[in-house]
Amino acid sequence: MSELRVGVIGLGAMGGPMARHLASAGLLASVWNRTPHRADELATELGVPAAADPADLARRGNVVLTCVSADGDLEAVISACRPGLSPGDVVIDASTVSPMTTRRLAAELAEAGVGYVDAPVSGGVEGARKGTLSVMAGGESATLERIRPVLEAFSARLAVMGEVGSGQATKAVNQVMVAGIAEAVCEALAFSEKLNLPSERLMEVLSAGAAGNWFLDHRGRTMLADRFEPGFKSGLLLKDLRICDALARELDIELPMVDAAITDYARLVDEGGYDDDTSALIRIKRGASDTPD
Ligand code: NAP
Repeated sequence: MSELRVGVIGLGAMGGPMARHLASAGLLASVWNRTPHRADELATELGVPAAADPADLARRGNVVLTCVSADGDLEAVISACRPGLSPGDVVIDASTVSPMTTRRLAAELAEAGVGYVDAPVSGGVEGARKGTLSVMAGGESATLERIRPVLEAFSARLAVMGEVGSGQATKAVNQVMVAGIAEAVCEALAFSEKLNLPSERLMEVLSAGAAGNWFLDHRGRTMLADRFEPGFKSGLLLKDLRICDALARELDIELPMVDAAITDYARLVDEGGYDDDTSALIRIKRGASDTPD
């Protein structure tokens, strides 16, 4: 591939900042978003065209980077791109979706001579804004090497995990830990409120010791102050946990901690918390500690 020209589809909490880093690296060709005003505003800010539709975006470059919510959304945008994709183009997916969906889409695109790299990310909206995401990539090594500058534009670490789908498999492992940490931190901080401990001193001492972690540092103070603007939406974590559950069933392995987190996040979402940050789990934990024996 000569010059990399990237179109970004999905300008949400993660895709918007990724597009900004690609523009800074001189790689951004155009943007598209389902809700058009987001694309129009970012296109004006970055001085690139807002594509009329996903096929138009694909025609304007040779790499399409997707960052949309879930499997069905990814399938829809890739299908809409198809008329504009040419042999030699590459689709990079930075959404979190299942490895099964990933392998199916990659096989369909391969028939049209289009490459596919799954490149889910970790590091939160803070990592996306700073360009310090951790990327877990899967795909053919020659394709990955060609598009490496795209992934490096918004990451601090890029790990090539193996063939297509292995990036999403790695992300599923990541999300088991993310959910377990959220369960532990939210439960512990709901407990601390009942104990009437001074919150700022608590945060400092916990962060400095063996219990310290990213979620506590970035979400501890806001959740204690009852602020849950995303961040990472609870509905999206629930989607990820269901991917982990489906994989576990396929592999005949039990993930009891994931089962517990699915129950908690499903309740949070049922109670209207889909768009709230994952730290809103503390609301469920506070409720649970109020439940009589
Ligand atoms: P978000 O802020 O809710 O943005 C979602 C984006 O997907 C929006 O641009 C949305 O368009 C678009 N979209 C959704 N359904 C679509 C459809 N059917 N057709 C076209 N576009 C569609 O979510 P996010 O936090 O950026 O997350 C995006 C992906 O990254 C998810 O898979 C998530 O699990 C993953 N992720 C998120 C984080 C995080 O901390 N936020 C971290 C790592 C990975 P509209 O503007 O029209 O709604």
